Amino acid sequence: MTYTITIEESSSKKQKPADHELGFGKYYTDHMFILDYDKGKGWHSPRVIPYQPITLDPAAKIFHYGQSVFEGLKAYRTNDGRILLFRPDRNFKRLNLSNARLSIPELDEELALDALLKLLTVDQDWIPSSEGTSLYIRPFIIATEAALGVAPSTQYKFMIILSPVGSYYEEGIHPVKIYVESGYVRAVAGGVGNAKTAGNYAAGLKAQEEASEKGYSQVLWLDGVHKQYIEEVGSMNVFFKINGKVITPALNGSILDGITRNSIIELLKQMGITVEERQISMEEIYQAHQEGTLEEAFGTGTAAVISPIGELHWRDEQLIINQGETGELAGKLYETLTSIQLGRIEGPKGWVVELPKS
Ligand SMILES: *Cc1c(COP(=O)(O)O)cnc(C)c1O
Repeated sequence: MTYTITIEESSSKKQKPADHELGFGKYYTDHMFILDYDKGKGWHSPRVIPYQPITLDPAAKIFHYGQSVFEGLKAYRTNDGRILLFRPDRNFKRLNLSNARLSIPELDEELALDALLKLLTVDQDWIPSSEGTSLYIRPFIIATEAALGVAPSTQYKFMIILSPVGSYYEEGIHPVKIYVESGYVRAVAGGVGNAKTAGNYAAGLKAQEEASEKGYSQVLWLDGVHKQYIEEVGSMNVFFKINGKVITPALNGSILDGITRNSIIELLKQMGITVEERQISMEEIYQAHQEGTLEEAFGTGTAAVISPIGELHWRDEQLIINQGETGELAGKLYETLTSIQLGRIEGPKGWVVELPKS
């Protein structure tokens, strides 16, 4: 496919926030990327334009039937001034897997990556440099056809927006308290749990809200059929260290194939640690905790990278893990993966993509 990405530069640049004010997803850069789709014509008109609101017909399908997918990744500024992305090819590959499930037309992955690099080049001054900060990248697709019939949309928009974000751990990596959800479920095999689609998050808000009222930061989802087997945590995959071995739920069709998950499995193998990807019940975790063999638990995802779990609340019991402290392995994995992402140590081939100097 041949294409030309046009660039329309913004004439009024925004004031950039100070690094300590960033938070998560509060500020957006000066530009955005848009690509349109029309049935019969395919994806067309790739362009970088000034960041701006979009206009949609109230009948646009996204509002009624939720046909949308998204991705999340980060760009980092290194100490020596380079700009690095972490495995971006996998994000666009996954976007297409989500597209396939939601009946959204496939996107040219090369074009998408190219578009991202162009947008980053234009807005590179927005990438913060203090420790722990980064530029969060949100590619997404919405159905825009104005028609209320329940059928895949004939029109879409693919967009990329950028948001400078602060350090996830202002005071260093620290453990979170997690509520094991036995009532609500997130997904079932055959549903859309393995797609990064908006509805999964809307459906999880209620449980998240209730857990938060009880003092827990996120919920641990169990399988939708038996409500026994562990799935994932909020927007993170989950790992347990039991008796020296690391166990994580297998990709069973209802959990997301996290890029951080995949990278952590790879790093653990390199460290010579046994990793099992399999079905794992909450009962097994409880037993291991009772026997004193549950050594660590942690979540993995782009936002926090590694989130140690200090406490699990399950059936009126509080399981305190590793005295509520960050485990040695979680700490080491965090250090290793963030060092790779920041270009401080060499990771496996192809993990880090450098933005070409303009
Ligand atoms: C995005 C996401 C993850 C983490 O995926 P990464 O690629 O590691 O960021 C895990 N679970 C859910 C439900 C997610 O949406």
